[in-house]
Amino acid sequence: SPVMASEKEAALAATPSDSPTIFDKIISKELPSTVVYEDDKVLAFRDITPQGPVHILLIPKVRDGLTGLSKAEERHIDILGRLLYTAKLVAKQEGLDEGFRIVINDGPQGCQSVYHIHVHLIGGRQMNWPPG
Ligand code: 5GP
Repeated sequence: SPVMASEKEAALAATPSDSPTIFDKIISKELPSTVVYEDDKVLAFRDITPQGPVHILLIPKVRDGLTGLSKAEERHIDILGRLLYTAKLVAKQEGLDEGFRIVINDGPQGCQSVYHIHVHLIGGRQMNWPPG
């Protein structure tokens, strides 16, 4: 895939779809990643373009139509809760005792570039508000 100048550029170039994503290859270990947490439902691994000293992505191992949060249905309530609870566990594991940021980008305006829902856990530096 082409090298993108920015995450925003990647997001605007991404087509929202149900096609398989690069995260399937990360789940299957076909593509290497630095896994920091794994159970039967959730995989957490370091973002390849970290936006802070700690930047981890948490994803469901089975996407089940959950390309993004905007596609959530009642059947996804359990996995959505698990993703957030696991983010808390991983934040603790990473020593983010002073705080952290959780982000779910959705759609082109939300700067989503991979259409397999993922929770960003970012920490290890002071965050700012409002976000860009
Ligand atoms: P989004 O922009 O969709 O919210 O987040 C997608 C994230 O996936 C980006 O932060 C990007 O750096 C990360 N990413 C994309 N491809 C890979 C990859 O192959 N490996 C890892 N570890 N992260 C990736």
